[in-house]
Amino acid sequence: MTRLERQSFLGANSENILRSATVGIVGAGGGGSHIVQQFAHMGVGGYVIADPDFIEDTNTNRLIGGTLDDVAVARPKVDIAARLIRGLQPDARIVLVPVNWQDAVEDFKQCDVIVGAVDSFKDRDELERFARRHLIPYVDIGMDVHAIGGAGHLVTGQVILSMPGEPCLRCCGLITDERLTQEAQRYGAAGSRPQVVWSNGVLASTAVAIVTQILTPWFKGPPAFVFLDYDGNKGSITLNKRMAMLNGCACAHHPMDETGDPLFDIRIQQFRPRSAARNAVDPTITKPWWQRAWDWLWG
Ligand SMILES: [Zn+2]
Repeated sequence: MTRLERQSFLGANSENILRSATVGIVGAGGGGSHIVQQFAHMGVGGYVIADPDFIEDTNTNRLIGGTLDDVAVARPKVDIAARLIRGLQPDARIVLVPVNWQDAVEDFKQCDVIVGAVDSFKDRDELERFARRHLIPYVDIGMDVHAIGGAGHLVTGQVILSMPGEPCLRCCGLITDERLTQEAQRYGAAGSRPQVVWSNGVLASTAVAIVTQILTPWFKGPPAFVFLDYDGNKGSITLNKRMAMLNGCACAHHPMDETGDPLFDIRIQQFRPRSAARNAVDPTITKPWWQRAWDWLWG
């Protein structure tokens, strides 16, 4: 009996599958911290987590695992994520990227699936392009709060699964050149966007369910393309209308002949995951020379 017994319905081999899986999480803030927490509870074994930010006072309304003590020392968000994982998965393989994810592409190439919980359309666009090139499923979550005049506010969000060859964020209309241009023009002047913990939790939970279905899967028919709308005012998650129209359509934005690593060089391949290589402990290296000599003589 293991601590994961209650989720054994995910499949007879699901514990091994989840332990051997490596998930990439870009953004360890409001959305990403929920995802980290849930993957750790579920027994996912490998993590590549990127976020260049440190926790601030205003993050504590939603950053799972973050404490006021962390704020006092301006702890990196990726360190808070790692602490959360270690509390449940002490032997997890964790690669922390306390800089932009673009600076750790070699690590993200090793991921079985990548989840993006980022604010900008530019990051989403680049992340999806990267995932497509390397044939890695990409799940995107995002939320927004809109003022609706005298009627208060509308909390919305979306969860999109972008698989190689299937409809993408541009097919869905989430990424457009116009949006990217507008975002670039107001760069640095956007200010802080409203965020709350519960809507992030709903979106993250939905994304984790999609990832679990890809990895285990626990029912027949792994998803090829998912586009869900969240309405926080109604408390509903519904299929976006475009999902039915786009189902089965080939994506023209990421042609399959653009897949593959343009920098691949067979002569420098290690053929083992970088994350595993980093976490592997070779006793012959960690022991001092005199202890190795002692072992050789008397061991
Ligand atoms: Zn597309």
